Amino acid sequence: MSNIIFGPIPSRRFGKSLGIDLSPGKKQCNFDCLYCELDPAKTMAGQEEVLSVEEIVSAVKQGLQEHRDIDVLTITANGEPTLYPYLSKLIDEINKIKGSTKVLILSNASTIDDPKVQEALLKLDEVKLSLDCATQKCLKKLDRSHSGIDVEKIKAGMLAFKEKYKGLLIVEILIVKGLNDSQEEIAKLNDYLLKLRPTRIDIGTIDRPPAFDVKPVSYEELLQISHHFDASLPVYIASRKKAEAKPSSYSEDEILETLSKRPLTQEDIEVLFDEESQKRFKKLLEKAEIGLVETNGVKFYKKA
Ligand code: SF4
Repeated sequence: MSNIIFGPIPSRRFGKSLGIDLSPGKKQCNFDCLYCELDPAKTMAGQEEVLSVEEIVSAVKQGLQEHRDIDVLTITANGEPTLYPYLSKLIDEINKIKGSTKVLILSNASTIDDPKVQEALLKLDEVKLSLDCATQKCLKKLDRSHSGIDVEKIKAGMLAFKEKYKGLLIVEILIVKGLNDSQEEIAKLNDYLLKLRPTRIDIGTIDRPPAFDVKPVSYEELLQISHHFDASLPVYIASRKKAEAKPSSYSEDEILETLSKRPLTQEDIEVLFDEESQKRFKKLLEKAEIGLVETNGVKFYKKA
C-alpha cells in the first residue's frame, strides 16, 4: 500500500525523515485534541482497521530502496501509532532492514504506562512523547482523551520508561492560548520534567489550521513560557511562528541575561537579535562569556 509511506520530509529537529503511517485509512486515536489537524473523530482504545506487519514492512522496504539518503524512519499514524496491535513485532522487522537509518516514533504518550508498549519502544533509536498537560483537567479539556486515560499514569509510565531507555527521549509540549499556557500548568510541567530529565523538550504551538477554533500563542509568548522552565532543562522552541518574529536590539548585558534564563539555538538568535546584536553576541562568544552545548544534534548557546 503506497499510502503507508510518506515524505521524505526535511526536519531541523530529526533530519531527513521518511514517514510510516500505521493508520492510512482513517483517524484512529485515543485522543481528539482541540489542535488536531485531522477532522474530529470518536476516540477509541484500540485500532479498528489494522494493517498486517507484512504489508507495512514491504512498503518500508520499497521506501528505503527509493530514498537511500534518509536519516530517520518515523513511525506515526493518522492517530496514535501505539494503538497498532503488532507494534513490537513490526519494530523488530523494521530494525532488521533499516541499516544505519534511525527509527523514531511520534506518540501522544497515552499508552506509555503499558509494559508491552514500553517493551516495543525500548527497541527504537528515538522516541518522541507528547505531554501537553500535567493535570487531568487540562488533558481532558485540551487533548479530549478516551475514558480511562489518566495523566498521572502517563507521567509514571514515562518515568518508568526513561529508567530503562538508552535512546533519545524527546518530550513535546504544544501550547494553546488559554488552555495550557497558564503559569500554574507550566510550573507543574516544569516540576515533572525536572524529574524526568528527557534528552530534549520541544515546545511549540499551533502552526497549521486545527479542527477546532483554538488559537496559537506568538513566538514571544513561547519564549516567555520557555523562561518559566528551569534553565537546566534543554528546551527547544520548535515553531514556524519564529519566522514571524521581528529581531530587536539587545545590549551585551541583555544578551547575557537572556541566555542565563534560557539557552538559545542559532535559529533563536537569528530570530531574536538584530544585526548589531548578533555582532555583540559573536564578541561575547569569542570572549568565552557564552558557551556552546550540544543536545541530540541541536546546538544551544548558554551563558558561561
Ligand atoms: S494525538 Fe495526534 S492524532 Fe490524536 S487527536 Fe491529538 S493531534 Fe490528533
